[in-house]
Amino acid sequence: MSETNPMQADTSFELLIDGAGVAGERHFDVINPATEEVVGRAPDCTRSQLDAAVAAARKAFSDWKATPIGERQAKVAAIGDMIAAHIDDLSRLLTSEQGKPVARAVEDVGAAPYFCGLSSKLTPPVDIHEDSAERLSATYRVPIGVVCAISPWNFPIADSFWKVAPALVAGNTVLLKPSPFTPLTTLRIGALIRDILPPGVLNILSGGDDLGPWMTSHPGIDKVAFTGSTATGRRVMQSAAQTLKRLTLELGGNDAAIVLPGIDVKATAEKLFGAAFGNTGQVCFAAKRVYVHDDVYEPFANALVELGKQAKVGDGSKQGTDFGPVQNRQQFERLKGLIADSHANGHNFLLGGDIKTGNKGYFIPITILDNPPEDSRIVQEEQFGPILPLLRFDDVDVAIDKANAVEVGLGGSVWGPPEQAEAIAHRLDTGMVWVNEYGSVAPSQPFGGRKQSGFGVANGMSGLLEFTQPHTIVTSRQAAGA
Ligand code: NAD
Repeated sequence: MSETNPMQADTSFELLIDGAGVAGERHFDVINPATEEVVGRAPDCTRSQLDAAVAAARKAFSDWKATPIGERQAKVAAIGDMIAAHIDDLSRLLTSEQGKPVARAVEDVGAAPYFCGLSSKLTPPVDIHEDSAERLSATYRVPIGVVCAISPWNFPIADSFWKVAPALVAGNTVLLKPSPFTPLTTLRIGALIRDILPPGVLNILSGGDDLGPWMTSHPGIDKVAFTGSTATGRRVMQSAAQTLKRLTLELGGNDAAIVLPGIDVKATAEKLFGAAFGNTGQVCFAAKRVYVHDDVYEPFANALVELGKQAKVGDGSKQGTDFGPVQNRQQFERLKGLIADSHANGHNFLLGGDIKTGNKGYFIPITILDNPPEDSRIVQEEQFGPILPLLRFDDVDVAIDKANAVEVGLGGSVWGPPEQAEAIAHRLDTGMVWVNEYGSVAPSQPFGGRKQSGFGVANGMSGLLEFTQPHTIVTSRQAAGA
């Protein structure tokens, strides 16, 4: 984040604490990744502002958890309706801070009403273990307390509201912290919805690098729902251990796609191109390594390259842009480093790999690599950007072993004759696998990773239950003392 003339930037963004907009005591710049200009200045939440938000959330908790679930559901649905009513303005603001094309920003913002609508129809079940003349034994799902939701910069709104909506419906109060790279749309949403909920039920705090650790170690917070990188996830877990906070960790991935003979080359290439390069490759479950069988390697690689040549990378606010810039300078430099590493090691580029210097914006061209070594950085590291290694195989068992031989296990995909492909899907050590399609996240599907991709799940009823704890009550039906 750079320094700028504060007179030129929009400083109207406020924190949401205890139901009121609260001005920042200090601010930081938010940069448009397509132009490198300042979009706005976000409040940099201080320690005492965080304490005030935690105190407000704690105070609001007892009334909110006692509010009938139907009322909580209605208020969460109303939040969704309010966001939907402002989707155009919010999406344009999101494009300016995140970089994605406006049509994609509409999807990201639109996910908030979607998740609010979904959660507002869910009621946690009661498990009856015994209902007899002797006793009633039942487990109820009750809220945990004050939840802190921490989001990344790739899907700032979708990732926030698939935590916030179920957390609120379940009866928790919430502190939402967007990424410092993309806080503005979330803060704007805070201003729009602040009167829907009782004060303190939802607080929105933007801040710099200190704010996340302050939250994850704060004794007044009971649960952390975190989405971000595996490295940060480890720090969150360590910090949360001090007070034994409940955790849901949605972390990084290095998803493998396995492409078998017998595919429709053109149709599969189109789907996999979207799987790898959608959101400029900045998707946790993007296809990040593609293992392609020898028999189809060349036609498949050619088809992907053709799609890459047609794709337009540019400013997301301009008509006709398919893929925006990489979201921030740090990630841009990381990706340039990966490309430089591939050049230095003599990897064969089928497309891209050249970064224009001297221009504004964090633009990386669609880049496709031809069979780099398995131990190269571009295969072993999560790139989180528009650089894709294609890896040739002739023995599917070896390809499966390689797909599984990483520390992370978020998602994966298999492409080929359905029965054979599905059998392979069962052997992938990941939370989710798609067969001949990619990325569907139906409400009934639990979404979550294995290994160092985190633990806990999001989505639908499974996601709602993550924001509850069991409360088992056994009542004797014999008269007391009898
Ligand atoms: P990040 O880990 O750098 O930051 C995520 C959030 O954590 C931000 O809000 C950041 O301010 C905050 N944070 C940073 N340090 C913290 C700390 N010590 N304590 C508490 N909070 C802290 O991740 P990012 O770069 O914003 O996002 C990209 C990563 O997120 C990728 O690895 C991607 O795969 C992953 N991701 C995972 C999922 C999933 O569902 N599994 C979804 C989206 C993104």
